Amino acid sequence: KRLDIVPMFHQILDRFEMNKTEKIYFERKIPEESISVWLDQDKITQVTDNIMSNAIKYSPEGGKITLQLVKEPHRVRISISDQGLGIAREKLDKIFDRFYRVDKARSRELGGTGLGLAISKEIIEGHHGHIWASSKEGQGTTVYFTLPLTKRKRGSKK
Ligand code: ATP
Ligand code: MG
Repeated sequence: KRLDIVPMFHQILDRFEMNKTEKIYFERKIPEESISVWLDQDKITQVTDNIMSNAIKYSPEGGKITLQLVKEPHRVRISISDQGLGIAREKLDKIFDRFYRVDKARSRELGGTGLGLAISKEIIEGHHGHIWASSKEGQGTTVYFTLPLTKRKRGSKK
């Protein structure tokens, strides 16, 4: 359904603020204007939760996590940045594969199955969006995803 994602992302962050046990700061770069998008709210919340949990899991104590919403001409771009240990360039695409985990030993300690981002990718592609990551080793990671602003009608090209 069509939904203003500005309050939706504020709510998601409010929930993370409430439940946080780690010493972590959340920064919001979210515009004031409303941004209306066709989406499955539960699924996009699941994607955001996945990426946020990763950011928290791989953040150092006192680290900052930034969630940014940017309205572009035909899509909205959401990004979640952390100040964690980062991911090597050659592994950046692989993190979206099923069961892929960068550092087996470390990841086992931190828990998880390696499915979070693979499921997120399926959901975003199901919404005709894109998902990708950028990272500087030792400095942090940003995971981006986009959602189109116009609904794709079956049979039409737009
Ligand atoms: P699950 O999400 O199923 O609990 P997971 O978090 O290990 O397990 P994904 O969310 O798919 O799995 O992430 C895959 C791998 O990508 C992680 O194991 C980790 O190695 C790496 N990764 C993901 N996000 C980050 C991040 N913000 N910083 C550093 N590494 C990350
Ligand atoms: Mg995960």
